[in-house]
Amino acid sequence: MPRKLVYAFAEGSREMADLLGGKGANLAEMVSLGLPVPPGFTITTEACRDYLRTHELPAGLAEEVEEHLTALETALGRRLGDPADPLLVSVRSGARDSMPGMMDTVLNVGLTDASVAGLAAQSGSERFAWDSYRRLVQMFGRTVLGVEGFDEALEEAKTARGVTDDTELDAADLRALTQAFQRLVLAATGRDFPQDPRVQLDLAVRAVFDSWQGERARLYRRQERIDGDLGTAVSVVAMVFGNLGPDSGTGVAFTRDPATGARGVYGDYLANAQGEDVVAGIRNTLPLAELEQLDPAAHAELLGVMAALEGHYRDLCDIEFTIERGRLWMLQTRVGKRTAGAAFVIAAQLLDEGVIDADEALRRVTGAQLARLMFPTFELDGAGAGGAVTALAQGMAASPGAAVGQAVFDAQRAVELAATGIPVVLVRRETNPDDLAGMIAAQGILTSRGGKTSHAAVVARGMGKPCVCGAESLDVRADERALRAPGGVVVREGDMISVDGASGAVYLGEVPVSPSPLVRALEAEALGDPAETDRRVLAVGRLLAHADAVRGLRVRANADTQADAERARRFGAEGIGLCRTEHMFLGERRILVERLVLAGSSPDPDAARLAALAALLPLQRKDFTEILAAMDGLPVTVRLLDPPLHEFLPSLVELEVESALATERGRPLAGERLALLDAVRRLHEQNPMLGLRGVRLGLVVPGLFGLQVRALAHAAADRLAARGDPRVEIMVPLVGAVQELEIVREEALAVVAEVEAERGVILAGLLIGTMIEVPRAALTAGEIAGAADFFSFGTNDLTQMAWGFSRDDVEASFFARYLDLGVFGVSPFEVLDASGVGRLVGLAVAEGRAASPGLHLGVCGEHGGDPESVHFFAAAGLDYVSCSPFRVPVARLEAGRAALGPAAGSPSAGSSGSRSAGSGGSDGSGSAGSGSAGPG
Ligand code: PEP
Ligand code: MG
Repeated sequence: MPRKLVYAFAEGSREMADLLGGKGANLAEMVSLGLPVPPGFTITTEACRDYLRTHELPAGLAEEVEEHLTALETALGRRLGDPADPLLVSVRSGARDSMPGMMDTVLNVGLTDASVAGLAAQSGSERFAWDSYRRLVQMFGRTVLGVEGFDEALEEAKTARGVTDDTELDAADLRALTQAFQRLVLAATGRDFPQDPRVQLDLAVRAVFDSWQGERARLYRRQERIDGDLGTAVSVVAMVFGNLGPDSGTGVAFTRDPATGARGVYGDYLANAQGEDVVAGIRNTLPLAELEQLDPAAHAELLGVMAALEGHYRDLCDIEFTIERGRLWMLQTRVGKRTAGAAFVIAAQLLDEGVIDADEALRRVTGAQLARLMFPTFELDGAGAGGAVTALAQGMAASPGAAVGQAVFDAQRAVELAATGIPVVLVRRETNPDDLAGMIAAQGILTSRGGKTSHAAVVARGMGKPCVCGAESLDVRADERALRAPGGVVVREGDMISVDGASGAVYLGEVPVSPSPLVRALEAEALGDPAETDRRVLAVGRLLAHADAVRGLRVRANADTQADAERARRFGAEGIGLCRTEHMFLGERRILVERLVLAGSSPDPDAARLAALAALLPLQRKDFTEILAAMDGLPVTVRLLDPPLHEFLPSLVELEVESALATERGRPLAGERLALLDAVRRLHEQNPMLGLRGVRLGLVVPGLFGLQVRALAHAAADRLAARGDPRVEIMVPLVGAVQELEIVREEALAVVAEVEAERGVILAGLLIGTMIEVPRAALTAGEIAGAADFFSFGTNDLTQMAWGFSRDDVEASFFARYLDLGVFGVSPFEVLDASGVGRLVGLAVAEGRAASPGLHLGVCGEHGGDPESVHFFAAAGLDYVSCSPFRVPVARLEAGRAALGPAAGSPSAGSSGSRSAGSGGSDGSGSAGSGSAGPG
């Protein structure tokens, strides 16, 4: 049977959005509900996909359109283009996923120089007929033929008549305007405006198909992660007219307030107008309530229809309608977009109203929406009004939130200024572990290099601090304490800047900020507080509680300080899945690392090494005791040292310069300084991420891992002595072969046994496991499981090594091009690449569990807090995800949603489904009103 490419409205339903687009499917649904919809038909997305592939309308389409058009003409008793009584149609775009305003629509198709008189006669209004025709030439001219200049011509016509409103132009004016528009078309295209209505229709259909590939549509799809291959459907609908006089009009409305979620209809109405006037904002609209005065009957009918739609869709609906001489027509409905806050409020309301159950309410919200509610936001409206704020650059949105402060260019200065109460934004070319104190002190972080897993991005997310990274157009010059931006703008230390970590935008000047009431409540562990009045906070509390009740996947946090661990716990973390120990070797402790490295060249290497280790031991022990105390009773996974040792030593370049200068002065480096230079030269690597790091350090630096294990065992014993409940897990990084793990494990067990004997305790339940972050570890997981109590997937390194992408460089270098080319739809460092890296995870899960059925499995890479990836990990059968403290609530919510699985026949709203995680709210800023402090 040949494919069916065209469906009458009566043949479709809301379940057919894939084929008929959201608009076509919902028009069909409204027809089946008996609501007043003008008759019409929909050309499928399949026809569009064919057209986009071949640039030809598919075979058979013309005949099917003809057939449906004839049926339409018969039903209405009018013919397209009939000079005496023409049928007019609108040609409307409509993809599966709503892409509001991103594609084209053409109204009044079928009007010609001949039929305009027929329309005038039938409607009894010459003015209306010419107004409709000028609109057709204008819209068709612009969207189908690509002609410009119509708006200017309309303005000129109004000025010539001394009027401000297009409704004040009379029939003669509009006729002249139509002719002026036609001359514009002829001048720009060399052809007359088409006078064959079928040609108009076919060209309009092609133009709507083409608009799928338009710049706006592509950008929107990339932002919302909508598949670029889906194509749009086209609905051809008999025209009804809102521009027939004062008893006609058009409007848009929502069944609840999409900004706040408040109950009660909400919308705009424009008398004597067609739909595009509302969107274009050429005249001021009236609030919907005023329609009640203008036309009580139509208003009442509209409210009835809206109630019916809400009842049917069981969700907020948005609609477009037209009133033609007092008669109501529905032009569109869909489950409406809403802000992040409104999504939670509406889901909780519908639950209270008994319309949906708790599972469905949870499906209606997303982790991305929750994340939006957790960060302070910029109120950009009007901020630039006084000229106080200018856009400076666009970087990567690395860690959401809004930060405002004086620009500072080194960590030390950031700490100094912050200590005096001055808010600062730390600006660096890229950050390194030495910048940590400055990052903590700053309101936000801006870098000109590095991607979403760069040091700045990972650390900032961990701290819940706004960060924009990879703003490449900025030339950051720390030595000059300044940055240079395009256009010759120079920002110096002390100048106010604002960075928006949610959008990647950087501004010069101070943008006003709203803090997050949700974070205030989370910090106070008061989500369920009966005194809470913020409806968003209340709604989030309820839905999170339900997510916690249904989820199987546990949620831990990545935290390496007591403060982070405490916050993570308040945010609902059920343990620490990754305590990175590297920052514990910085600052004043560097000197001890230097001594450890230099021990080999001292007269008594063993004694020197032992002395350095002995000095580090009490410091590490205190670090661990604090974290175990903060997480008492919950598991704490401590990872042994991971980064290359040279990161803790002075830079090779600096030492070489120092040495050259010393030689020039005739006093070449000697003693400890020379030994240090030798050591740094020895440790220098071309490719440190693939060098001496992770487990390799443990195997070549004697005593290093032993020191950490000893400190941890003592810390656990200290906690037991204090009647605490320490749950220690030791994690070995970068393992690629079981032998590596076996050696470290043996040493660790021996150290633990020594401490147990020394302290007279048993550290029951202590686990030793490994990260799975080297592809070879995943491929030999069955072997590695023999030496591991648990696996934790380090998906940052696993992604880096599986793709061969440097996680510190590639996002800022060629990812934008890759995204454009569709190599992937989103950075694999952000959302787990399920078909590649995910297969390694799946393999390791299967082989690890086959070899060791009780093997505990988690993930601690950045993906552990990404909504879409959380669903992957739940399906892969992991026991937990671990993520930065600020993403813990997001992961809890998504783990709950993952446990529910997809709903049968749930409405395809922007608020459900993780592929469209970003589309649930048209903003976030508009809803973040009152409240107290947010992160940072
Ligand atoms: C990882 O590689 O995913 C990981 C968690 O370790 P790090 O980011 O510290 O390399
Ligand atoms: Mg790693």
